[in-house]
Amino acid sequence: MVRYISSRNVNDAVSSHEAVIRGLAKDGGLYTPEKLDFQIDPKDLIGLSYKDTAAVILSALMDDYSREEILSCTAGAYDEKFDVTEIVPVTKTERGWLMELWHGPTSAFKDIALTILPRLLTAAYQKENRDDKVAILTATSGDTGKAALSGFADVDHTAITVFYPEIGVSAIQKRQMATSKGNNVEVIAVRGNFDDCQRMVKEAVSDPEVLAACQGVTISSANSINAGRLIPQVVYYYSSYVKLVENGTIQCGDEVNFVVPTGNFGDILAGYIAKQIGLPVKRLICASNTNNVLTDFINTGVYSLDRKFHTTMSPSMDILISSNLERLLFMVSGNNDTLVAGMMKDLKEKGCYKVPDNMMQKIRETFTGYWTSEEECAAVIKDMFEKENILIDTHTAVGQAAMYKYQDETKDTAPCIVLSTASAYKFGHDVLKCITGKDIADDFEAMDTLEQVTGKPVPRQLKELRDLPVRFTRVIDIEEGMHAIAARMQEIANG
Ligand SMILES: *Cc1c(COP(=O)(O)O)cnc(C)c1O
Repeated sequence: MVRYISSRNVNDAVSSHEAVIRGLAKDGGLYTPEKLDFQIDPKDLIGLSYKDTAAVILSALMDDYSREEILSCTAGAYDEKFDVTEIVPVTKTERGWLMELWHGPTSAFKDIALTILPRLLTAAYQKENRDDKVAILTATSGDTGKAALSGFADVDHTAITVFYPEIGVSAIQKRQMATSKGNNVEVIAVRGNFDDCQRMVKEAVSDPEVLAACQGVTISSANSINAGRLIPQVVYYYSSYVKLVENGTIQCGDEVNFVVPTGNFGDILAGYIAKQIGLPVKRLICASNTNNVLTDFINTGVYSLDRKFHTTMSPSMDILISSNLERLLFMVSGNNDTLVAGMMKDLKEKGCYKVPDNMMQKIRETFTGYWTSEEECAAVIKDMFEKENILIDTHTAVGQAAMYKYQDETKDTAPCIVLSTASAYKFGHDVLKCITGKDIADDFEAMDTLEQVTGKPVPRQLKELRDLPVRFTRVIDIEEGMHAIAARMQEIANG
């Protein structure tokens, strides 16, 4: 069985379904596969649907779930909720490929994992014959929130609360969350940034006031700190590789590069896991916006928060504390929990940590980092549309720009697959401005104009937002966080 162990205490070892229920380990560590000593050959996945590919990979990485449980989860997740039967299509661009991850119910890549996470959680509860409630606490930089609200709406035994930065998400993202349906959902804006929201959610699991209010309620998370979020993301690295084999671009065994617009490091870490279990990945290119803490880290081996926080037009990547990097450090250190716990303590107390050279060497064998300014990002969006008639969002543009830099610098000719992480219409105001120079204040008007200009259809669920009633308007200060969470736990406990 693949055991999941805390990155801060290897003696805290659980099965994958327990890791899904718990979210974060008690010591604040992240549950990470103890060892990956098996291989999945992409050759065996040729011709399979997305759903069946997912079943093979999840069965291997979450092998305490039965075959039937996994099949029921994948069948329930990857269906007509997605507007293409392929689920994750791959399209050719001039210099590479785009992996389109935004065809799900909320038009961002988070849907791929958050359509299945509630099912994995429900199955885990049934396995344990539990009937207590799970409170899902989620911090979002914009996209996780809506995808989690949509995935967990009215799911038995669960209640979900989402915290998002009041300033820093796009107007459409805010509207998506504020109009969420379901009797078990709550959305709260925080006067702070994403890092503040994430810290609140992480601290809640050990906060005395919160714990006292949690009688009969287990706190879990829908963030990529939850292994049940991370593992389903491994699937599309495989499925897109297999598509390139199927269309004759590569032969099985050839190496490819993946370019990943990165914030919390969850998406790219899933690519690293894919590589560990046998996908021929040459390099993982970590693309950042002006919040380039990861680029600096990969280049210097020092992770430092001593920098300005920027609000950019790719808000889902406006993050300084990339949580999942902790899992990578744990893996490349050979599961050295003491070392990792020490670094995380340094980060909390001193605002920085330094990674030993031998570990950095290992990281650099696979990872390269590039960052992109707002101007470069805007130029890429305009160019892609004008020269290739392809409409990309602001996050995908950061990835696309990183691919150009990588190819120009290294002359590497291996195929590059850029992860296209959101629909352009989630960030329509900025995308329209990049393409036409027009600055339209009303976001729905900008959406319509962008549709007219490009001829690319707006996803139905985004168009509909205009007419949905706003249900959530609450805003709190960071200091109120624990109190607000405790009150919510009390409410959930009381049914
Ligand atoms: C969440 C998100 C990212 C960053 O993914 P991480 O797993 O946090 O690194 C990039 N682009 C979009 C559109 C996102 O929603």
